[in-house]
Amino acid sequence: MLSAKHIRSDFIDFFKSKQHAFVPSSPIVPTDDETLLFANAGMNQFKDIFLGLAQPQSARAVNSQKCLRVSGKHNDLEEVGKDTYHHTFFEMLGNWSFNDYFKAEAIEWAWELLTKVWGIEPTRLWATVFEGDPTQDSPPDNEARSLWPKVTNISKDRVIFGSKKDNFWEMGETGPCGPCSEIHIDLGPERCDKQNVPGHTCMVNGNCARFIELWNLVFIQYNRTKEGRLVNLGANYVDTGAGLERVAAVLQNKASNYDTDLFMPVILGISDITGHKYTAKLGNRIDNAFRVIADHIRALVLAITDGAAPSNEGRGYVIRRILRRASRFGRELGMHEPFMYKLVPVVVDVMGDAFGEVKERAEYVSTVIESEEASFGRTLDRGIEIFAAAAERASESPQKTIRGDDAFQLYDTYGFPLDLTQLMAQERGLKVDKAKFDKLMEQQRERARAAQKSVQLSLNVADSELPVTQDLDKYHGDQCESKIIGWVDNEGFKDKGRIASDAEMGLVLDRTCFYAEAGGQVGDCGTIKSAEGEFIVENTTKIADCVIHKGRVAQGKLAVGDEVRAVVSKDRDAIRKNHTATHLLQWALQEVLGKSVTQQGSFVGPAYLRFDFTYPKAPTPQELRKVEKLVRQKITADLPVTSAVLPKEEAQKLGAMALFGEKYGNEVRVVGIGAAGKDYIGGAFSKEFCGGTHVDRLGFIGGFKIIKEESISAGVRRITALTGQVLTDYLEQQSDIVDQLSVMLKVPADGVTDRVEQLLKENKRLAKELKSASAAGGADIMAEARKLLDDSPKIDGSHIIVGQLSASPIERAREAVDMLKKKAKSAAIVLGFADGDKVTLLAGMTDDLVKKGLKAGDVVKAIAPIVDGGGGGRPQMAQAGGKKPEKIEEALTKAKELIKEKLQR
Ligand code: ATP
Ligand code: MG
Repeated sequence: MLSAKHIRSDFIDFFKSKQHAFVPSSPIVPTDDETLLFANAGMNQFKDIFLGLAQPQSARAVNSQKCLRVSGKHNDLEEVGKDTYHHTFFEMLGNWSFNDYFKAEAIEWAWELLTKVWGIEPTRLWATVFEGDPTQDSPPDNEARSLWPKVTNISKDRVIFGSKKDNFWEMGETGPCGPCSEIHIDLGPERCDKQNVPGHTCMVNGNCARFIELWNLVFIQYNRTKEGRLVNLGANYVDTGAGLERVAAVLQNKASNYDTDLFMPVILGISDITGHKYTAKLGNRIDNAFRVIADHIRALVLAITDGAAPSNEGRGYVIRRILRRASRFGRELGMHEPFMYKLVPVVVDVMGDAFGEVKERAEYVSTVIESEEASFGRTLDRGIEIFAAAAERASESPQKTIRGDDAFQLYDTYGFPLDLTQLMAQERGLKVDKAKFDKLMEQQRERARAAQKSVQLSLNVADSELPVTQDLDKYHGDQCESKIIGWVDNEGFKDKGRIASDAEMGLVLDRTCFYAEAGGQVGDCGTIKSAEGEFIVENTTKIADCVIHKGRVAQGKLAVGDEVRAVVSKDRDAIRKNHTATHLLQWALQEVLGKSVTQQGSFVGPAYLRFDFTYPKAPTPQELRKVEKLVRQKITADLPVTSAVLPKEEAQKLGAMALFGEKYGNEVRVVGIGAAGKDYIGGAFSKEFCGGTHVDRLGFIGGFKIIKEESISAGVRRITALTGQVLTDYLEQQSDIVDQLSVMLKVPADGVTDRVEQLLKENKRLAKELKSASAAGGADIMAEARKLLDDSPKIDGSHIIVGQLSASPIERAREAVDMLKKKAKSAAIVLGFADGDKVTLLAGMTDDLVKKGLKAGDVVKAIAPIVDGGGGGRPQMAQAGGKKPEKIEEALTKAKELIKEKLQR
């Protein structure tokens, strides 16, 4: 059998033999494209070439791109599991021509690889070409249509026309675009999964599993103008994409992508963990759960490796949604504890050779997944109950729709992403009131915005409008002479006239010594003065290569052409100290905690520095002390700091650290600590790719202290530290506090700790006394529950804990059931209590009894009518309400009988 690994390298080697250069996959999290959440096609990393903004390194390229299709234009999330050939994460094999070869070669080579190298029977393949669209001013692709039978042995009648939807590619509403030719395979009539759908006909693009698209050849030859017209692009590009998983299924002769060696190890892993068997059928819950989990764990491992981490917004929320979705499917396989993280090594095994980074970050990825599973797991079961109640209400309603309020509560309190609620609703033939949900979301966002209330100047300009600012002076000092060449406001860039004095704006100079926010270092503040006016700079940012001084005219008047003096505020020195200290901190962390520490982000401002890094657990206080000590030793040694601009390869050879996933140009600036002179960067103990401003000698930093260490997300730690004058002020304040304590407690400073310890002990003792005094009077239902356990009879080692408690809040009673389950290990629990004339019955079963067929929901349903009530719930936990307190004992006796009967059978 041809392994997927083999297929991948066949593809790459084939195109290498046709003079294509191999280009590694770009990260799934794009580094320099804000418009894209995740890489979703091989072309993403070449976008600038098609737009004419960048030159290709070589005229022909081949690669295997990591793709994630879960958002935006390409979203296949809903398909996953239901069909067997759409994944969230998949690999797209591709070959590229950057204005080199065109349609004839692209078609000929794709055909050669499929039919000659891989031996697919030509009669199984179909090709589609663009039929044209007069309303869009787009002609049919007659060129490709006549080329297909000419350069390949495909029979003419299997080259067919396709619509704009399938056969025309465009980057956006305007810009590069062109027709494409897709290659589909006919897998045989028995593979149709729509046989029972009335009116279905099997055909290319007919939307069934018999005909599957394998490879898409895109011919980028046009440019769509703002007016919607097509003009020639002036260049011909080829951009192709073939799904590795689909090709593997065909070449390995498997019934689906999930049966290939890319997925089977993961499927078997799930089987090992859950004890369920995969039977490869469509349309049943167990197999479906297998497929979804296998798909999602691959997506999670690959995306988290590339720097996406679960969070509440943007990319992070997409990752969180995928994980929670998979977690819920885990329940279908009986998994109530974190389990997906156990699949990480399997995925690493399958994917690690092609993508080395997956191996390197495996431990981190596993930590992130486990803790995210654990945190969702805590609310998932309760959420499923809430959902069940909402679904019941919905199925009784005429619209068969789950209320927006319910969906929002599930989202807000139980962490259910909307698509998860929708999916669960769909399984029961219900809909969700999304409009209401969206409205509630918007209201919540409004509240958050109101709470934030920071006014921000939004600069609305295109990169190409802006001039280039010479800003090397930032490295040499904090003052320079310059000239105003324009300004930016909400309307765009202006290069003439007087500058309005009442609005916030961004001033543009021909040269500047201001540092624009980048690489974690904040933008500079300061002033820009002319003979007639003064501008206060509140922040400095960069758009493309233009430095923008944001702020306002403080006095007098300013106009384009004015000679000015730019002066950076004194904060700059504090910033420099913190930035160099950040480099020292990263070095020291690696010394103490090991090389697995990698930077995840940083913030360098005048008041403090913050450094985020990957590390699976909290460093110990001793380790942190050691880090501080190392940093201080270097500061005291007053070593020099140098920088040099080097070719990227050379910098890498010297061992300079780059930020993971960051895209750098060919020339990079490297900051080195501990060796003098530009040529000595190699000898420096700390070397980092960095464009920031730094001290010249370490002694200037004047001290270093970590004031906080915390976890910001799974596997990511954050250290906050101080240097310089801010540190001195901080230490003074701390020492004032000790002085005050010493006066208050009437002990010398070095006796404060002992005295406080003594007081705390005393306090604890008193609290205990108080508690036992009050317990003697009031009700303590935990104690009552424990008593029930002590007195409970046993059958086959299982406790039967049935009894009445004092009135208590329901949450507390649930806790009592949980506590009893834990303590007894194996137990059937039924508790009842009355509050006025309201009765509550609660039942809980441990998993072993549920397996024996004893379900909490059944018991509650059977006894609730006795107290004139009703209810239900899950096999593990259920609840009912009622109205007849005098009947509680009778209900409980009945419960006891039921349980005994079940257990004695
Ligand atoms: P489909 O119509 O099957 O969804 P597509 O038209 O969206 O495919 P393209 O965007 O042209 O596909 O992507 C190129 C190739 O990548 C496809 O021919 C297919 O082999 C593969 N591919 C696309 N989407 C997926 C996916 N979700 N999972 C696996 N492979 C995919
Ligand atoms: Mg698609």
